Amino acid sequence: MSRPLATTRWPIDDILARTDLAALLDEFAQPDQRARRWHCPLNDHDDNHASVTMHRDQRGHERWRCWSGDQRHRGDAVDLVQAVRGNTRAEAIEELATRAGLQPGRDLPPIAPRKPTLPPAAALDERVVAYANICARLLWSPLGTPVRQWLHNRGLGDDVLRANHVGADPGRDRLRRSRGIPYGAGAGATFPALDTNGRIRYVQTRALEPRPGYGKYDNPSAALAPNPRLTWAVPPGPAQPGQLLICEGIPDALIAAQAGYRSVGLLGTNALDPTVATRIANIATRDNLDITIITDNDDNGVGKHLGQQLADRLGEFGLVATILEPPSGCDLTSWAKGGGTWVDRIGRRELDARACRAPPGIVRNRDTPAPMRRALANE
Ligand SMILES: [Zn+2]
Repeated sequence: MSRPLATTRWPIDDILARTDLAALLDEFAQPDQRARRWHCPLNDHDDNHASVTMHRDQRGHERWRCWSGDQRHRGDAVDLVQAVRGNTRAEAIEELATRAGLQPGRDLPPIAPRKPTLPPAAALDERVVAYANICARLLWSPLGTPVRQWLHNRGLGDDVLRANHVGADPGRDRLRRSRGIPYGAGAGATFPALDTNGRIRYVQTRALEPRPGYGKYDNPSAALAPNPRLTWAVPPGPAQPGQLLICEGIPDALIAAQAGYRSVGLLGTNALDPTVATRIANIATRDNLDITIITDNDDNGVGKHLGQQLADRLGEFGLVATILEPPSGCDLTSWAKGGGTWVDRIGRRELDARACRAPPGIVRNRDTPAPMRRALANE
């Protein structure tokens, strides 16, 4: 299946003529619900205003442009792939060639006439739910064995996998699918995003062996499923009362759920659309939950920034979120796997909150920690 990268030099005009830039933007960026605009897909741009538009240059090539004024936030389809994947130009060209069906030694596929792009879905297409459900069944079949082993290696046990409908995509050779469903070049684990009632609202497919130049995750197309930006993970047994953990990504949310915590997984570091904090705040207020945010402690500080931003927005609802930082270079999965003390840290935090003192490594973002308020109120 895989072929060496950048051994074939595709003429760039052939690739661009066979690439639908609007469809690519739908996949890589969050489409605006009303107009043909997109929220900037670059990590360093928290774009509330859907600043990206498309146009055609004099040579007839489709181009995109983010109106932030940043010179790097614009270009053709190759620039878009490079900007989002952070890969080389050769790798980006190879990805577009593969997507367009270009194969060495074969005639070029015909150029498809440009259809007006489908508007982003307002409602979830049932085919996405069907795909997630089929994969959830396959996880427990012989076809799912490699995926199950991979999940076990990441510290996820059978109970939490079942409770959250985690599944196995054996790849498109073995499981046919309609357009817009995750592509499935090889085997992958499927992680559904659930609503507060445990219903499947979306699914992300994590390739077991991501191909070079491709992301780890593949999502349904925006025309089939609106990205809910977060998932509510289901603990397999009775949940710790009064606690809500917010994690980065569905797998980390499952680690938290497995430990008995109600948890939210943010779907990606661009996940903070304006509704995210509101939806979390509504549930936390309704159920009187103390919020702990555990984002990745990565070198570039993206996780830390995400956690702080969310804590600030929750603060606007009068909620105090505690940020619990994994050791350097860790996410919750690797922290838990390394014999992590993270559960102790949450338990200890409550005790320490009663003593009005934060343990080292825990950063408070407001003066009165919620656990302390709760502890005082209970006494
Ligand atoms: Zn931008």
